[in-house]
Amino acid sequence: MSTPFPHLFAPLDLGFTTLPNRLLMGSMHTGLEDGRDLSRLAAYFAARARGGAGLMVTGGIAPNRRGWLAPFSAKMTTTAEARRHRVVTEAVHAEGGKIAMQILHAGRYAMHPLLVAPSSLRAPISPFRPWEMSPRLIRETIRDFGRAAALAREAGYDGVEIMGSEGYLINQFIAPRTNKRTDEWGGAAENRFRFPIEVLRSVRQQAGHDFIVIFRISMLDLVEDGSTWDEIVALARALEQNGANLLNTGIGWHEARIPTIATVVPRGAYAWVTARLRGVVRLPLIATNRINTPEKAEEILASGQADMVSMARPLLADPDFARKAREGRPEQINTCIACNQACLDHIFAGKEASCLVNPRACRETLLPPPVLKPENAQRRIAVVGAGPAGMSCAAELGEMGFEVHLFEAAHELGGQFNLAKRIPGKEEFAETIRYFHTRLKNANVQMFFGRRISAEELAEGRFEAVVLATGVVPRQPSLPGAEHPKALSYIDVLRGARPVGKRVAIIGAGGIGFDVATFLTVPAHVTPEAYLREWGIDPTYAVRGGLGQAEPASTGRQVWLLQRTKGKMGARLGKTTGWAHRLALKNRGVQFWSGVEYHRIDDEGLHLTANGQKQILAVDNVVICAGQEPLRDLQAPLEAAGLRVHCIGGARLAAELDAERAIEEGLRLAMQIGQTA
Ligand code: FAD
Ligand code: NAP
Ligand code: SF4
Repeated sequence: MSTPFPHLFAPLDLGFTTLPNRLLMGSMHTGLEDGRDLSRLAAYFAARARGGAGLMVTGGIAPNRRGWLAPFSAKMTTTAEARRHRVVTEAVHAEGGKIAMQILHAGRYAMHPLLVAPSSLRAPISPFRPWEMSPRLIRETIRDFGRAAALAREAGYDGVEIMGSEGYLINQFIAPRTNKRTDEWGGAAENRFRFPIEVLRSVRQQAGHDFIVIFRISMLDLVEDGSTWDEIVALARALEQNGANLLNTGIGWHEARIPTIATVVPRGAYAWVTARLRGVVRLPLIATNRINTPEKAEEILASGQADMVSMARPLLADPDFARKAREGRPEQINTCIACNQACLDHIFAGKEASCLVNPRACRETLLPPPVLKPENAQRRIAVVGAGPAGMSCAAELGEMGFEVHLFEAAHELGGQFNLAKRIPGKEEFAETIRYFHTRLKNANVQMFFGRRISAEELAEGRFEAVVLATGVVPRQPSLPGAEHPKALSYIDVLRGARPVGKRVAIIGAGGIGFDVATFLTVPAHVTPEAYLREWGIDPTYAVRGGLGQAEPASTGRQVWLLQRTKGKMGARLGKTTGWAHRLALKNRGVQFWSGVEYHRIDDEGLHLTANGQKQILAVDNVVICAGQEPLRDLQAPLEAAGLRVHCIGGARLAAELDAERAIEEGLRLAMQIGQTA
């Protein structure tokens, strides 16, 4: 079959087995691995196998109790545990897929008091100090890795991935940062490499030779006292000699203070790292991090930067990614926007992962796909507002066969995503609009743009029900001078409708306040080169770990980000991305003032009390980002006219609204309407 992505869909011969294409579904913890019943995990992977991923890797499974990420997280230590995984491997094989189990020993990153490490050094992101491993425990742990691989084979897995990067135990042995031992397991590089090599040997020995072994090697640590490039090359060669089949790329330790997968990271920004190792070893190399489209994957493979590409979150966002790409339908792909909101942020909050743009992810058995019913063609539904909530609801209803009329006051789909996509580093949000546009068209949803639909028109439209997805309006604080020409709404600023001066105060430090501060201080679209410079990533590896001098570019604007609440700014930003937003703004000189009291805006600027002192911030503009209120002005007249009205997204509740909730509410309401006769 011909495909627009020939390199991506070229098979890869590993000798004893052949992968159908170059797409690896990278390891990602979902929270479904940990229980006794793995049937939901099986359904999750079966959907991705059906969607055509070449090889998939599970979330990390510990080789023993000490290696647990958290108490009672998944481990592979007994035949009973192996038997439990059969449901997963059988479901994947039934769909023609291949799956490897990742063996992950957390080392000093473990969130329990039994944690161990090469040296007793607490990780900056952990509350616990690890126990130093005795030589005997090291030998036992090596055997445990091998046992886990043998059990994985017994469970039906096609292979394993040994997690040797991101700062977990194996990486802790490799890098002088965390390995201060003076015995045969520490000191010179060959001693520090002994543990990963012995682990690989043990895995090979116990699991056999006709079994895929991927080693994830840290190719760029991004922490002080990480590996040098020469050490990475030497280790890669040793791994090749000791039986690895594939080398996967690891970028950045979890404790690194550089965002490596968030949406601010440009697409494919780390492919050069994998490319550096090409030619050094003959093993196929896998490129990773922020590869989220078939076009980017093809470019990396065609230019010879890697032999395979790894995508984890993009396959959470769209299980059919590979099939759509292979069949030349990339415009139908639900693209991962790298927000981390419903995947990694959920996991860090102790919840199951899902996906902001695909609420069915990890809920395959709970939220089945829409079923087309011809009898629904007689049922006409109006959806008012084509933001994330309205688009999601209309697409689902259309796919069930309803006659759907989608009304949008603006001239385009997307609602607030049209503002979000203007923020430097959030350009990916445009992909969600493109995806829904394709879906809505294919589902024959009738779309009407450019006019605010009225209750009278809707009442005359013979609709069975009206879905109000009309979103929100910005909150206007009752502050004297809020109407002063210096005061601007974030909407005008982001649309470029009003000029903004050199000195700016931002009222409100929620997600939108942070985004506006970014918009006002980042000079332009963030290129991969600008990203490396901004965060001080040194592609020459002059210093261990690849850390260089950070040089954030700025528009030169002086910005004050303000909030009334005392304490940390942006406390509600995502757990895995908030720190990076804060750090990026600080590096560009943005002033964070919390616990302030606003008095008025006038020709002099913003009058406020900050740090217990009344003062005037002599600014050119004050941008109001003070939250939002629901817009549902149509509800009362529609109900008075006897129509059935449903409110979703911001129209239902503006407090704590985000796109994850908006899209999920759209989907759930459509399912509910579909179930009512
Ligand atoms: P909206 O997106 O507000 O859409 C409502 C739509 O209804 C609008 O298009 C409006 O024109 C239309 N409408 C209203 N009345 C009528 C009428 N009478 N007739 C026809 N059409 C009408 N969320 C996140 O989760 N993560 C982020 O990183 C993020 N970043 C953001 C950055 C910015 C700058 C902004 C502004 C928002 C961001 N959000 C983010 C918030 C997110 O965009 C909203 O939560 C989401 O858009 C809410 O969806 P909604 O469909 O309820 O409403
Ligand atoms: P928000 O997160 O609720 O923040 C509103 C800010 O305004 C708060 O900092 C609040 O701080 C301040 N405020 C509230 N009432 C005020 C008043 N009367 N006068 C002055 N200040 C007031 O709302 P948002 O920033 O508008 O964001 C809207 C939604 O979009 C959020 O819920 C968020 O989830 C989503 N979003 C997310 C991201 C992301 O990166 N994840 C980015 C953008 C938007 P004080 O009350 O302390 O002053
Ligand atoms: Fe990607 Fe966001 Fe979905 Fe995670 S939640 S998979 S980052 S779109």
